[in-house]
Amino acid sequence: MTPLSSLAAILRRAASLEIVVLAFAFLFALATGVEGQEAYDRPVSSAPQPDDIGAGYQTPEVQRTSPRSAALQMLDVVLLIGGMAAIAWVSRRGRRRWVVTAVTLASLAYFGFYRQGCVCPIGATQNVAASLSDASLATPMVVLAFFLLPLAASLLAGRVFCGGVCPLGAIQDLVLLRPVQTPQGVDRWLGMFRYVYLGLAVWFAVLPAGQRDFVICRFDPFVGFFRLNGPAWMLGVGVALLLLGTVVGRPYCRYLCPYGGLISVVSRFAIWPVRITPDEELDCGLCVDSCPFGAIKDLRAKPSECLACARCFAHCPRQQLAWGEIELVELDELVSSAKCVAQRSGGNE
Ligand code: SF4
Ligand code: SF4
Repeated sequence: MTPLSSLAAILRRAASLEIVVLAFAFLFALATGVEGQEAYDRPVSSAPQPDDIGAGYQTPEVQRTSPRSAALQMLDVVLLIGGMAAIAWVSRRGRRRWVVTAVTLASLAYFGFYRQGCVCPIGATQNVAASLSDASLATPMVVLAFFLLPLAASLLAGRVFCGGVCPLGAIQDLVLLRPVQTPQGVDRWLGMFRYVYLGLAVWFAVLPAGQRDFVICRFDPFVGFFRLNGPAWMLGVGVALLLLGTVVGRPYCRYLCPYGGLISVVSRFAIWPVRITPDEELDCGLCVDSCPFGAIKDLRAKPSECLACARCFAHCPRQQLAWGEIELVELDELVSSAKCVAQRSGGNE
């Protein structure tokens, strides 16, 4: 490693640590706000009474929905952390795609169908923005944890939340049947929508009470599937995205998800991002076409775009050698023939 690249690596880590410190300071500041929040109790006397309602109406014992218990909220956070840890482990050590698929299925079942898509970091972005702009609002700790933990994880290991823990990503990943590569320019330009959407969502969230709107939740294309209801046109958008997603890898994640835009920026600073090879880089290019999301750039997984899906690992000859699928001599042949092809096509351009 040259002195210049060592310096660049040190600066990169320093920047990452700075962002971690800022994230925790932000968490602390919001937590202080949560502590100051006063419990809201609806005065039962102000509600309609049995005599007003008539027809033998009986007052129910419970006047308002019971909040989810602290233990179950804690379970949500533990499962979030566990899922991300499993994907991070696969990215650096485990290397098996089936583990990611298992996490994807479990997350879809739990965070998708059981929790009905809520709480989720994508929508939590609006809660955090609203509470920062309005001192009378406070973000519940579990919502704050769901907003911050995937960002903190992406500083460490890249987009491990997107890898299989997010139910919106999970449902799209499972329908990806015959991925086609989209042109890089299209990816880049369509990807800008995520930031426009993020800006709009924050703007609507910080409007004064009465005008405030949580547009990310209102226009969530998949939550209707999880809840088995919702406006027909929104379900139609969800179906269209899933149909498109059979050939274009995760269109909502890559072009629309506002939290994906945020996590993509943070992941640029990942300390231990996804590595396609288990050890030594060969620069053979044999993995390039294996990524359904076009995230392999200059023969490396680009941390801001790599969704930690582990599909490319099996295409790396070093990985095949580590698994005992090929011999060293076959690896040499594969690599030299790949490099010859690359040189020939480069010479023909
Ligand atoms: S990009 Fe958004 S929808 Fe896709 S997996 Fe990440 S957070 Fe979920
Ligand atoms: S580079 Fe592509 S195929 Fe490889 S882990 Fe990242 S998203 Fe998946």
